[in-house]
Amino acid sequence: YANRDGVIWFDGAFRPWREANMHVLTQGLHYASSVFEGERAYEGQVFRSHDHARRLIHSAGRLGMELPFSVDALVAAKAELLSRNDLRDAYVRPVVWRGSNEMDISTDGSDVHCAIAAWVWADPTPDLENGIALTVADWRRPPRSSVPTDAKAAGLYMISTMAKDEARRQGYSDAVMLDCAGRLTEATGANLFFVRNGALHTPSPGHFLNGIARQTVIHLAREAGIPVREYDLFPQDIRDFSECFLVGTAAEVTAVASIGGHVFTDRTVTRWVSTLYHQAVRDKGRYMPAAQLVPADIDCV
Ligand code: PMP
Repeated sequence: YANRDGVIWFDGAFRPWREANMHVLTQGLHYASSVFEGERAYEGQVFRSHDHARRLIHSAGRLGMELPFSVDALVAAKAELLSRNDLRDAYVRPVVWRGSNEMDISTDGSDVHCAIAAWVWADPTPDLENGIALTVADWRRPPRSSVPTDAKAAGLYMISTMAKDEARRQGYSDAVMLDCAGRLTEATGANLFFVRNGALHTPSPGHFLNGIARQTVIHLAREAGIPVREYDLFPQDIRDFSECFLVGTAAEVTAVASIGGHVFTDRTVTRWVSTLYHQAVRDKGRYMPAAQLVPADIDCV
């Protein structure tokens, strides 16, 4: 990704793509003091740009990093970035990290940086008919008592990377992870939904990210009269569901064909939700309630 044309927004100014570099002695690289966002632009406009900017600032704050940019400044930077790079359907990647001023584990005196890159993403809608095969990962999501699960923090992605690589080695596309109490949480980079009797069932976000796409889908489903239940789900519940899909900014609505040995053949509600989602992301005037950044309190038992 480093050798491309275009510009990257870096600490408030636009730099040539190939010159958006940092030093190897960067605190964020060594101790994972880094947070990021994953966003999509559709037809030239970032979907829920304010919510993603709010979450970036929130995530940074959870790691004690104060950003010198407001939500509005970040939203404006993303819009200008798309325009300068001539992008319409794109992925947008803001990242915040501690710099190279200090190398101590403590963050006293360390500098905070923010960059935003964007590149073309014009993939077609995920194939809903075939769906992807998931396994249940051995690696578990850490509890809220160990990590700020409501932050989109780079350090948490070490687990996602290991779980996804292990799933791929076994011939699966991705993995579902459990939390400290054995509850189903999410896939390595997207949230998890099931369907039974026309209703959506999804794990409560306690020890995992309450995704913005997840909140979008819940809102759209309820608006369309599809009941949504959020509660604790366990691997043994999987066999009771007729459909399963993943939801995320990148994943959009991705049909799941199987988890381990359990096969989901129906796609009726998955197709419906996918249609609602794709209409919403392109509907520029659409109202969405502000995304919830901090999950309800859930104990790790
Ligand atoms: N969980 C994880 C671990 C993720 O990486 C993502 C993608 N950001 C999600 C859930 C979905 O979040 P969002 O809908 O905000 O993209």
